[in-house]
Amino acid sequence: MRLRTLESFWLLKNGLLHSYPSLQSTISTDIAVIGAGITGALVSHALMEAGYNVILIDKRDVGQGSTSATTSMLQYEIDVPLYQLAEMIGEQNAALCYRSGMEAINQLEQTVSKEKIDCGFQKKKSLYISHNKKAAQWLRKEFDIRNKYQLGVQWLSAKEVKDHYGIHCFGAILSNTAASVDAYKLAHELILLNVKRGMRVFDQTDISSFDFESEQPVIHTKDGHTASCNKIVFCSGFETTEMLKEKVADLFYTYACVSEQDIPLNKNLKETLVWNTADPYIYMRTTDDGRLLIGGEDSSTNFSFFQQRTKEKKAKKLVEKLQTILPGVDFIEDFSWGGTFGSTKDGLPYIGVSPEYKNALFVLGFGGNGITFSIQAMDIIPDILNDKHNKLTELYKFGR
Ligand SMILES: Cc1cc2nc3c(=O)[nH]c(=O)nc-3n(C[C@H](O)[C@H](O)[C@H](O)COP(=O)(O)OP(=O)(O)OC[C@H]3O[C@@H](n4cnc5c(N)ncnc54)[C@H](O)[C@@H]3O)c2cc1C
Repeated sequence: MRLRTLESFWLLKNGLLHSYPSLQSTISTDIAVIGAGITGALVSHALMEAGYNVILIDKRDVGQGSTSATTSMLQYEIDVPLYQLAEMIGEQNAALCYRSGMEAINQLEQTVSKEKIDCGFQKKKSLYISHNKKAAQWLRKEFDIRNKYQLGVQWLSAKEVKDHYGIHCFGAILSNTAASVDAYKLAHELILLNVKRGMRVFDQTDISSFDFESEQPVIHTKDGHTASCNKIVFCSGFETTEMLKEKVADLFYTYACVSEQDIPLNKNLKETLVWNTADPYIYMRTTDDGRLLIGGEDSSTNFSFFQQRTKEKKAKKLVEKLQTILPGVDFIEDFSWGGTFGSTKDGLPYIGVSPEYKNALFVLGFGGNGITFSIQAMDIIPDILNDKHNKLTELYKFGR
């Protein structure tokens, strides 16, 4: 019998790296960040760098939300293709969003290198492959507009992709800028680094209510303690949708599985993230311990009762689809898991102030490149707090 769990690969691989006390006193601070996932880790790091007194609160342990389920492909490419985004928000704005994704990946590389964080960060290329002839036509159009905005792209014919990667497709865009990382480990290490610099972290802290109306917002815990601050920054992931009247995203469930170690692969795949034009799309990347990680197969049902069985079916389907892309690949599944995922109407995140709450800011980096959006919030949130203009706030604002 082969036993499986619904836990993600990252959690099993790393374990609980660091643990913190729950909030058991009355405290005050400049900024309270809610949510100790990758978003809270990145944003609290930026706020500490900017000189704020920061506390970080989570109702679970660090990284136990989506951060332990992510496949952590860091892409500048948004789920909505550039040519379509251009029709929605204008060409210049759309190109700005795409370019900001590239800057975010480079920014994270600098942070990881400056702070010497061991989190498997690897700069890669990204290959966007067409899954049929029709898709190849719009992908070519997508290539033209990306090329016009000098996003570092190259068009590869079906033969070139086959020769170079062993992948079957109908043409592809190869992008120079992408990366992969262990986001769970990165979140833990970044939080620990800032704890050493004076940030206070409270995990397993259940919040009973927020008082936004007083001059200083107050956080009340179920244990009867309070934290007052000047601003609350919500980095609380998909659960945040439950506190917003504005419908910012459609939520669904998505699946991933990872092969055994040392899977024989074309060497060029080790340096490249791959995703395709199907809807839902399938994507893959290698891990730094020699596995192939594949994901996709989204579903709208999310009943916990069916999750284990659904996960097994979806993992099987993912491997079948992989065979059509990488014929002959010897993928033996080691772990599979599922997690909540979200998509917004334009593929862009919601970062900034919501008119529904006073004294609060939100960082909701939904979509296939949620983490790349969270990195962008490292500049946007301090800029908003300092009343400094940021070219992205208008595009990522609530109520758009
Ligand atoms: C299978 C899968 C694959 C994915 N692949 C990619 C990918 O390749 N690239 C990519 O960029 N993104 C990907 N994503 C999305 C990515 O995982 C998310 O964008 C990212 O993890 C969000 O991080 P977060 O810190 O915002 O949320 P989370 O990690 O969920 O953290 C939020 C934290 O807030 C806490 N919290 C919530 N409410 C409260 C409250 N009221 N009080 C206290 N604490 C609270 C939670 O306990 C949690 O720890 C994927 C997601 C899934 C499920």
